[in-house]
Amino acid sequence: MEFKNPLHVGAPNIGDREQFHALADQMFDRRWLTNHGELVLQFENELKDYLGVQHCIVMCNGTLALEIAIRALGLTGEVILPALTFVATAHALQWQGITPVFCDVDPQTLCLDPAEVERCISPRTTGILGVHIYGQGCDVKGLQAVADTHQLKLLFDAAHAFGNTHHGEKIGNFGECEVFSFHATKFFNSFEGGAVVTTNDALAEKIRLMQNFGFADADRVEHIGTNGKMTEVCAAMGLTNLQVIDRFREINGENHTAYAQGLAEIEGLRLLHGPDGSPDWAAANKQYVVAEVSSAYPLSRDELMHRLQAENVLARRYFWPGCHRMEPYISLQPDVGKRLPITEAVLAGILLLPTGSAVSPRMIERLVALIKQWAL
Ligand SMILES: *Cc1c(COP(=O)(O)O)cnc(C)c1O
Repeated sequence: MEFKNPLHVGAPNIGDREQFHALADQMFDRRWLTNHGELVLQFENELKDYLGVQHCIVMCNGTLALEIAIRALGLTGEVILPALTFVATAHALQWQGITPVFCDVDPQTLCLDPAEVERCISPRTTGILGVHIYGQGCDVKGLQAVADTHQLKLLFDAAHAFGNTHHGEKIGNFGECEVFSFHATKFFNSFEGGAVVTTNDALAEKIRLMQNFGFADADRVEHIGTNGKMTEVCAAMGLTNLQVIDRFREINGENHTAYAQGLAEIEGLRLLHGPDGSPDWAAANKQYVVAEVSSAYPLSRDELMHRLQAENVLARRYFWPGCHRMEPYISLQPDVGKRLPITEAVLAGILLLPTGSAVSPRMIERLVALIKQWAL
């Protein structure tokens, strides 16, 4: 086994422990553990600055943040989304009795193709839920044009795109609102957590109430609501990690370069994202190293994954086999795969490799040497 300790996709990035302990001590001294405490308020303010957004409502996780955003926008009937995403994107709709309509993606960006979205629209459609998959910005302009033409609400699942830009503009400012996840496996984490960000004052207010049971003040409830609150200890983790976010980004950049250089010499393997001279690439968090295994490589994608796993490199096929092939969607819409040729082709070849602050360029060299050796 090449690696004594497992290399995971999504091993958490962890900031300065002393800083975290100090913030946690403040929390204990105040005896204030949750319910919009000082750390949550400070976290929201720092996030607003960092992300360059007008409103930021932090929550207990990204899934609940998505559910609340969908509900606050009044979406019903059908909502169009990609099948090439984590299953939470689809579940956040189905959970509320909304039918997720899976739509094919653009082969370049792997995000929703606006022309395909247009084809998925029915009289029951109320919204479009784009996903900035692997941190790559959607065709925001194209999707907004479709949304405007058909009077649909547009929102984005930005779980992979923390701090990223699209055509130089910060992700978080597009559509009606955007949703981030701060889950432990994401580029930026608060143990568990998430946020809805928006430029819409009224929507922000509604979401703020909905994530606290609808309470407008001490004993006045204005909406049906739920419990989406972030705890103080999660905000302490978020504040700690935000201090060193630039370092995390640098590390991922160095790791990505190490992979790109190593894999460049191997036939049948390529990285789906890479330097293109754009400011978007420079700013990207590079949370996922997404390789595509083609038939020119002597092992199949799955064989390669199993060989890597045997060496303690826990490569993953995210988001294979696609939401549309998971329950309940595969039973409810058994033929939908036929409409998704690009999604299915991408999912058949994809392999995500470990990165983040637990992985070093030196480890990547050793890992790439294995892949190279198996190609001989
Ligand atoms: C992680 C993730 C979510 C869910 O976020 P949680 O914070 O884990 O609930 C939603 N969408 C995508 C695309 C994700 O990767």
